[in-house]
Amino acid sequence: MAEAKEEKHTGALYEATEDFARSRDGSDPLRHFRERFIFPETESGEEPVYFTGNSLGLQPKKAREYVDQELEDWAKLAVEAHLHAKHPWLPYHEFLTEQMANVVGAKASETVVMNSLTVNLHLMMVSFYRPTKERFRIMIEGKAFPSDQYAVKSQLAFHGFEPESGLIEVLPRHGETYLRTEDIVEAIGKHADSLALVMFGGVNYFTGQSFDLKAISEEGHKAGAVVGFDLAHAAGNVPLKLHESGADFAVWCSYKYLNSGPGGVAGVFVHERHARAFDLPRFAGWWGHDKASRFQMGPEFEPIEGAEGWQISNPPILQMAALRASLEIFEEAGMEALAHKSKDLTGYLEFLIEGIGDNRISIITPRDPADRGCQLSIRVRNADRSLFEKLTSQDVFADWREPDVIRVAPVPLYNSFSDVFRFSEKLRSALSQS
Ligand SMILES: *Cc1c(COP(=O)(O)O)cnc(C)c1O
Repeated sequence: MAEAKEEKHTGALYEATEDFARSRDGSDPLRHFRERFIFPETESGEEPVYFTGNSLGLQPKKAREYVDQELEDWAKLAVEAHLHAKHPWLPYHEFLTEQMANVVGAKASETVVMNSLTVNLHLMMVSFYRPTKERFRIMIEGKAFPSDQYAVKSQLAFHGFEPESGLIEVLPRHGETYLRTEDIVEAIGKHADSLALVMFGGVNYFTGQSFDLKAISEEGHKAGAVVGFDLAHAAGNVPLKLHESGADFAVWCSYKYLNSGPGGVAGVFVHERHARAFDLPRFAGWWGHDKASRFQMGPEFEPIEGAEGWQISNPPILQMAALRASLEIFEEAGMEALAHKSKDLTGYLEFLIEGIGDNRISIITPRDPADRGCQLSIRVRNADRSLFEKLTSQDVFADWREPDVIRVAPVPLYNSFSDVFRFSEKLRSALSQS
């Protein structure tokens, strides 16, 4: 018995049956978290296969209660709620700091929840992208999320550099679908004299590849560059040790794996070595001002030590209330336990997709579970959207990326082995019709 159990945990004992999936759900210690979320309605009335938590996480049932509480305090107390709400608005962002820091493996003093992702990326580059005539280039992963490409190119232009010569994109080798760490390291070394900033994703949105943040940080620093990460697809998806990685800064959104709702308020990490870097340029606003004297309304900006000092405006309480509902769940579940289930769940998905045995489909996500999170990106040879549309018509929420990739993300917090099994059956059926 013990032996079989052990094998189960390594995921070696998968079976392509509904009973197997159900029994794995039965022994899943995280299964009850599914009930804390609201799944979208479908026309058929069937429960959907929701595999787009990498795009917009589901609504925690508590989100409404938490947002309602703030609406109620606003109604009852109005301006007094800044101090006297059940959760006072003045320090509201602080209620999120520690739980958010735990999600990304940072210290609380290195973490702040504010603004939205691309805005934060720009704010971080204002402070940490300090190009000189010789050292001005920015390195990113090839096929980075478009917003990141626009952001870094516009920063180059803002400082008077040509994006063509200033931007270095590291691409996979010919015939390969994702990057090798050794190639990233080599690219950094090759451009060591001219690199000002290495800005990589934590998990690439397209391939689902999870990068070695520590190796990239170390190599970037060795080259004399600043290192930052965009963790949009990593936060809440893979266990992170941001502080230990040594990165200078990181940014991430919270509406994907972190379930904060559309346009949810985003996260920022600034390594503690910069906590008192008051000489760095930064775009200042009153919320980053020393808390003790903020309301003396003096003319000189005195930043708070640590990540909070990068805040600008007083924050959106309703958005933060929704995020609080989700972060509490993460705290309860724990990133390690989630990551453990995630490897198993995604391993099962991989096993079933391969079992379909259709040579038109291939997985472009790394095969080593250490190099990916929960997302698998499936390439469909000679594809058009019709296969994807057949999936959608069977109540599957997946994501189509031109020209030929379907992205699916079984999220360990609310997806089940049965979801994975149902998805594979629907994919098989859609393939057989096309
Ligand atoms: C989702 C995502 C964005 C979106 O940026 P917003 O500012 O939140 O609209 C940017 N970059 C990456 C890598 C993303 O995955």
